[in-house]
Amino acid sequence: MTYDYVVIGGGASGMTAALILAKGGCRVALVEKSPRLAPVLRGFSRQGLHFDTGFHYTGGLGEGETLALCLDYLGISPGIETVAYRQDGFDLFRCDRSKFEFAFPVGYGRIRQSLCESFPGEEGAIDAYLEKVRTVCRALPYLSLDADWDLASSMQNLHGASLQDVLEGLTDNRTLRGLLMQHCLLYGVVPAEVSFAQHAAIMGPYYESVSGIRGGGRNLVSAFETSLNQHGVDLYCGSAARSLEFSAAGQIRALVLDNGQSLSCKACVASIHPQHLLEMVPDSCFRPVYRKRLRALEDTSSAFMLYAISDAPVEALKGANLFLAQALEDDAVFEAQSIKQSPMYIAASGYRAEDGAHQGLIGICPTPDSVTRKWAATKRGSRGEDYEAFKGEAMQRMLRRIEDALPEIRGQLTCVEGATPLTFGDYGNTPRGALYGVKHRIGQYNPMPRTRVDNLFFSGQAVAAPGLMGAVLSGFLTCGHILGHDRIREELKRCR
Ligand SMILES: Cc1cc2nc3c(=O)[nH]c(=O)nc-3n(C[C@H](O)[C@H](O)[C@H](O)COP(=O)(O)OP(=O)(O)OC[C@H]3O[C@@H](n4cnc5c(N)ncnc54)[C@H](O)[C@@H]3O)c2cc1C
Repeated sequence: MTYDYVVIGGGASGMTAALILAKGGCRVALVEKSPRLAPVLRGFSRQGLHFDTGFHYTGGLGEGETLALCLDYLGISPGIETVAYRQDGFDLFRCDRSKFEFAFPVGYGRIRQSLCESFPGEEGAIDAYLEKVRTVCRALPYLSLDADWDLASSMQNLHGASLQDVLEGLTDNRTLRGLLMQHCLLYGVVPAEVSFAQHAAIMGPYYESVSGIRGGGRNLVSAFETSLNQHGVDLYCGSAARSLEFSAAGQIRALVLDNGQSLSCKACVASIHPQHLLEMVPDSCFRPVYRKRLRALEDTSSAFMLYAISDAPVEALKGANLFLAQALEDDAVFEAQSIKQSPMYIAASGYRAEDGAHQGLIGICPTPDSVTRKWAATKRGSRGEDYEAFKGEAMQRMLRRIEDALPEIRGQLTCVEGATPLTFGDYGNTPRGALYGVKHRIGQYNPMPRTRVDNLFFSGQAVAAPGLMGAVLSGFLTCGHILGHDRIREELKRCR
């Protein structure tokens, strides 16, 4: 049997692409290296509680909003229940040094009001900032189904002025600038490197609505699995894609897996880190300059991540996350070797199966992968005592910082798991344990869906943007190139 499409990578983007192609009448195989689909989104259980890793909250899931429409289209919506975050403050930003706090609310009107109250005299800058975010979101195809279809100029805009430059042009208030920059932790690129347009495209949907999914990423993945089965997608999990075979005419004709199985196919979508694809094709497949460009792609930051159980639910984290920063001014550090200096994201986690209530939390501190480089050649499970001691110490430091920030739960937290850049490399399958894969930064040209090989396409967070929304939209973007953008956008509009 020959598949019309083989999709490599069973994360959010690969599952999305596989479903769209199957809905479009294609015979599709989806290949995932891990034993089960979407290891990053799925999370894991400890002591009977479920912990999320790669999904906590998202924008775009409000009624009629873009991500919600995409999930309707994919047949996912009936299998999930969204849970709204706190309207008066879904993210609480707190400065360690000055103790300044800001609860970032949901909705442009509320955001304006809260910012104006905290920064009197800055109304003009605040209005201009929010209008610029709206303008970007209205103009990007797929993010807005009403936007004109002009991919080339949209992509050009994504390389315009940096977030930092735009904010500096709007206001001299360093705390306001710093505050509006803090959300760059959600995509892993510093304000001087990310374009304003990319920042706006990611954050705009969060400004409209913020939701989680009851039961977490695990339930989302299970809804994807149901739909993939219903649409007849064949799943190949537990063996990595190893190499692509080409015909004499230079077209892909099969994908060979690590277990030796060969999947005959007419075309392929790769939703993995672009550098991993290079290892699967002969050098002659791409021009040397393109190969060089892919090899040089810079990744987003990695992180330490703590998973802890608490004796009682953490009230402060009900419907809201806590962001800690040493400084909230625009010279704030966004990635540091030391846990004390690093910003920290804290969210509710440890969900009980019986009622979905949380009984724990996770903490994430961005850190460069250099902190674990000396163990890079070791294998999971046998990295040595010094690595285990290093990791244990890092988790204790995170625990102490969380207890300092949330004194009401001091002494009630028990660390049940921890992750370092090496863990993210193992489970996220990114070369350097990057949280969000390849950076989207000004001057770095990430791969587009089409490649020089007619029947080979890229998808995934490297193509569009990180996050559930970026990954899902990348699937639509890639399949739009294959099945026709007008067709897909019209079908999506019918889900309104
Ligand atoms: C700690 C953390 C927290 C996050 N929190 C959020 C959040 O709250 N909200 C949000 O929206 N986003 C969040 N994200 C980001 C989000 O999880 C990702 O952007 C998104 O899941 C990326 O999807 P993807 O399909 O592009 O990539 P991936 O999920 O990485 O999918 C690629 C898949 O390919 C597989 N693979 C790799 N090599 C091969 C091979 N050779 N053969 C077969 N399969 C292979 C991998 O195992 C992987 O499953 C978070 C990420 C992390 C790491």
